[in-house]
Formats: sequence, C-alpha cells, structure tokens
Amino acid sequence: MKLLEVQELEIRYRVQGNGFRERRYLQAVNQISFELDRGRTIGLVGESGCGKSSLARSLVLLEEPTNGEIRYQGRNILNMNRAERKDYRRSVQMIFQDPYGSLNPKLTVEASVAEGIRLQGLMTKPDQIQKEVIRLLEKVGLDASATKRYPRQFSGGQRQRIGIARALAVRPELIVCDEPVSALDVSVQAQVINLLRELQTDFQLSYLFITHDLAVVENISHELMVMYLGQIVEQGPAKKIISQPKHPYSQMLIASIPGNRTEADENWSGSRGDIPSPLNVPPGCPFHSRCPLAEERCRLERPLLKPITPRHLVACHLVATED
Ligand code: SF4
Repeated sequence: MKLLEVQELEIRYRVQGNGFRERRYLQAVNQISFELDRGRTIGLVGESGCGKSSLARSLVLLEEPTNGEIRYQGRNILNMNRAERKDYRRSVQMIFQDPYGSLNPKLTVEASVAEGIRLQGLMTKPDQIQKEVIRLLEKVGLDASATKRYPRQFSGGQRQRIGIARALAVRPELIVCDEPVSALDVSVQAQVINLLRELQTDFQLSYLFITHDLAVVENISHELMVMYLGQIVEQGPAKKIISQPKHPYSQMLIASIPGNRTEADENWSGSRGDIPSPLNVPPGCPFHSRCPLAEERCRLERPLLKPITPRHLVACHLVATED
C-alpha cells in the first residue's frame, strides 16, 4: 500500500473582484495527482506563488481542498474521525523555511522539542522525556548543551536542526519540507540536506520536499514534480528530469542553475519575464506567455499531462511519446 495518494487535488480561493458583488476565484492547485512510497522523496519545484505551499498546507490539514482526494495508508484524510485525524496530524509533520518563526522564542530547546511528545502522550515521565530530547538533538547533530538555551542563541542552520528534531519527536512517517534550506547559506544547505537523507534512512521517512531551487532538490529527490501556475507540467524520476528535462519550463529552471547549462540553453538566453498572476492564468498552455517555442495551438489549447514513458509525464503539445 502507498503511504500517500493524492488524486486530482484542487484548491481554489474566492477573492474579491472589482465590482461589489463580483466573485473571482484563484485556482492555487489544479488537478494534481501523485503517490509517495515509504522511505522515498518527491521534490516539488516551481517559482513563488505557483501553489506549492497551498498543496503542502492541504496535506497537513491547514487547508481544505476544493476537490480531489488525499489518501493516507488507504484512508481518505477528510473522512477520518477525530482519533484518526489526531494520529494523522502526528504522522505527518512539516518543516518550514524559517525555523525561527516556527520555534517559540520563549521556550528552551528542550521545551520546544518535548512539546509534541507531551501533547501526543508518547511519554510522561520527565526524565524519560529529557533523555529522548537529548537523543533527538544528537540525531540532528546537536548535543545536550543545547537543551537549556533559546532559539535566538543558535545560527540559522542550527535552528533548522532544532526544527527537524521537534518534527521527529512525534515519530512521523511523512515530513512535508517547505523550502527548508532556502534561508540558509549554500554550505549549510548541503549539511541540512545530508542530515535529512541520513534521517530518511534511519527512520524510513518519506518527504515531500518543496523548493523553488532545482539545484537543492536534485540531491534529495527520487521523483520530481515541476509546478507552474497551480499545475504539474512535468513529473517523473528526478534524475531523468534534471538530466534531460522535456518541458520548456523545466528546461528554463535547469538552465537557470549556475554551471548547469543544458542543450536547451539557447532557448533561455535572457529573461523570459515573470510568472503571470494566478488570478489571470493565460488560456491554452499556461506557460505560453513565456515559452520560446509557443505556437498558435499553445495559445488556444491546454496541453494535458501525458506519459511519454510509463513513469514520466509531460504537459506540452510539442513533446512526443518516447518509444
Ligand atoms: Fe511551450 Fe506550447 Fe509546450 Fe506550452 S505547449 S510549453 S507554450 S511549446
């Protein structure tokens, strides 16, 4: 059984239009489907505002989808009873871009990491909880001296380690990592990615790893989804997409990684403009206003996400099925 199955997920927000009674909708997530196995990582990459965080928030029950299904170990999370939801909330944790913002500055590291253990009733004896906190801090590369200190006394990378220890404390199976290294220096990014990989092996964790930076996701993802204006435009094995991106948007993202130019580079010389507003998604292919290969059909007809090999899907009129 798959750990997580997301089927045709849609998230739409109602927003104020120009007129008093005018209703407008922002389609943050449009018909997204994917599956995640135990011990695996799916990378979700796209520019800011493409809907990545809305998708993440729906997985941790901070947003209710407009349509579609999220199944966890075969159970639809929206139909779970109270006890099942509580257990789901424990099983699926989130790590944020700004660990400082997600740690209570008034709590010591020990209190922060122990909070979930107490709330979930996983342990009750203070000495047992303290031992567990120290074990978790050691797992993330800190030591017992961190317990009595406060988040402000740590560097960004160390705070992210504390955030990871806090997530691990409730014994999750899936961690939604929302831009977890974007605020860190490149050398610290690599350390945190390596730590997440080690923890994945030690605890058989699954990750949904969200980032705007393909260079980061390359080192941790087994599968990859490239998202543009709420839609997945390319989905499949991470190594394959990064070495041979098929969708022009994936090619654009890869060409923008310093020192990682591909054969598609000549299409991407110079800026291709900004992502359009999700309130004003272009008709036809949503990427046509920035695509150097766009033709008349692209402006009229939305390309479907289709398999070009059994596990590699692309939404582009110009990409053909591979033999
Ligand atoms: Fe570009 Fe057309 Fe493909 Fe869209 S469908 S990515 S506009 S070539």
